[in-house]
Amino acid sequence: MKKKQFKTESKKLLDLMINSIYTNREIFLRELISNASDAIDKLYYLSLTDRKVKLNKEDFKIHLEFDKDNRTITITDNGIGMNEEELERHLGTIAESGTELFRLESEKKEDIDVIGQFGVGFYSAFMVAKEIEVISKKYGEKDAHIWKSNGADGYTIEETDYDDFGTKITLYLKDDTEEANYSEYLEQYKLTTLVRKYSNYITYPITMMIKESKLKEGSKDEYEDVIEEQTLNSMVPIWKKNKSEVKDEDYNNFYTDTYHDYEDPARVITSSVEGMTSYKALMFIPNHAPYDYYTKEYEKGLALYSNGVMIMEKCDKLLPDYFSFVKGIVDSEDISLNISRETLQQDHQVSLIAKSIESKIKKELEAMMQEDREKYDNFFKNFGMQLKFGIYNDFGMHKDVLKDLIMFYSSSEEKLVTLKEYVSRMKENQDKIYYACGESVAKINTLPQVDSIKDKDYEILYLTEYVDEFALQVLMEYEGKKFVNICAENIDLSSEEEKKELEEKNKDSKDLFEVMLKSLDNEIKEIRFTNKLKDHPVCLSTKGNVSAEMEKVINAMPTDEKVKAEKVLEINENHPIAKKLQTLYKKDKEELEKYSKILYAEARLIEGLPVDNQAEVSKLICDLISM
Ligand code: ADP
Repeated sequence: MKKKQFKTESKKLLDLMINSIYTNREIFLRELISNASDAIDKLYYLSLTDRKVKLNKEDFKIHLEFDKDNRTITITDNGIGMNEEELERHLGTIAESGTELFRLESEKKEDIDVIGQFGVGFYSAFMVAKEIEVISKKYGEKDAHIWKSNGADGYTIEETDYDDFGTKITLYLKDDTEEANYSEYLEQYKLTTLVRKYSNYITYPITMMIKESKLKEGSKDEYEDVIEEQTLNSMVPIWKKNKSEVKDEDYNNFYTDTYHDYEDPARVITSSVEGMTSYKALMFIPNHAPYDYYTKEYEKGLALYSNGVMIMEKCDKLLPDYFSFVKGIVDSEDISLNISRETLQQDHQVSLIAKSIESKIKKELEAMMQEDREKYDNFFKNFGMQLKFGIYNDFGMHKDVLKDLIMFYSSSEEKLVTLKEYVSRMKENQDKIYYACGESVAKINTLPQVDSIKDKDYEILYLTEYVDEFALQVLMEYEGKKFVNICAENIDLSSEEEKKELEEKNKDSKDLFEVMLKSLDNEIKEIRFTNKLKDHPVCLSTKGNVSAEMEKVINAMPTDEKVKAEKVLEINENHPIAKKLQTLYKKDKEELEKYSKILYAEARLIEGLPVDNQAEVSKLICDLISM
């Protein structure tokens, strides 16, 4: 019998497999089962289209066997089978997916882990087998052939006797080494686990003779070993079932089992799409954030299946970052089993699916908000930050997707509200959306500026997380209403008359402010009287794009970039201190300087900003109160 050599490229891939140090060798079983399933698909298709082929779907199966003594695993299918020429062509030459893997490997672009992401196909069996036999008989032909190879020395093909049609593959497992335990694949438990892990949703039964200990008939405590053929896979994936056929409880169990969560999901999302791209998806919104959610360790992604065969456990391309909390599965016939992580990035079908999934998740979140606000509030407490980051990131590219999903605490409602709700309640003469920033609701409530706006009955959004103001800055406006930080710039809600009066007063006090500004070493940009403060003597506001809150956040970041907000010291014109300052300006400039320093320090304290000259300020206060 003549030994044939593998084609050069195949040989290289084989070497890679034979000498693989890849820890995920177990995928070989997934690959062989998937090939068997494909072969059955082809024959099943014939049975549907060719009247001469009389077979029913129930006739098909994939059967697994193992033999500890001979160290073999056998996978038998009654699919289409291969004739001599096909054995030669398909198993002697590298498959296309292999070429891709080989290219990556030779370019050393990625480590050997790529194997797991590819359907490297039949050759992956050489990761665990020292020798492989393939007996195959093409459906409708009379001769069967046996293909044999130990990988390294090429292969042989001979005629053989085989009664059935289809393919029977026998793997002679390698001997165990210190690093690798091949014998584990000769355990019933291991094989059943692997089938359920990788091939649970193959649509044909995967069977095996299972030995189980069962109660003896008629006995209450005597057991006997029973061997019977069992189907290992569930065949119909839960996501392929109609939502109406599946109980909530089943979805919940599937979720908690698959994602190891102790709580049921907050929402189950099912999706079945047909058209430009076809897919079925089953997704979940967790009820709480995973412990590592806001860390770098957290990996987003949905499991990607190609018609029941898992090709990737976490396909990150299917989920945008701002929906990274979603867990689930996408199954599509339009995705090739052999898609690689790299080609996937550019894959058009995957992009289409991702787009469609994004809008589905958005719709579901909106529905959740409508149907069960309490649940949505809880969701938002867990994942709202991620949505707000989503608005801010990528230069606001996704703001339209997200703007109706975010919420802020409202001064008037005293709970989280959406922007839409805020706008719907806006007063007739109101053309801006007011917000204030601070560490907590309680702290914001103490801000002098808040009083005056509340006094005029305007609603204020409280921004308590550091990403909040950045997100609003990116949004800029909602339904044409601009966002305004009530602590930044001058918000004037007074009448024309009042405005004019104040303007006059400020003009007349120019020289006073000049002296004060100088005493503050030009720390601030401007000083002015204001009529917007109720009881508070002073407040600090800002001019320009950087608010006091943003200054705090940006300067706390570990980058060199430091910013300075342009600060304005505002003095309550109705407070006795206003008069006092004017008197001091006329009588005692030295004293006026001291007062300025104290007032500025006070304004900083209220804003939650540090006071740098604390020793000086406390001495000044002491001097004053001991007068
Ligand atoms: P791929 O499945 O990516 O094409 P493989 O190396 O796994 O690559 O298989 C190569 C080819 O061998 C398959 O495309 C198929 O034509 C054939 N083949 C493999 N296994 C079987 C099988 N069990 N029955 C029939 N044909 C098979």
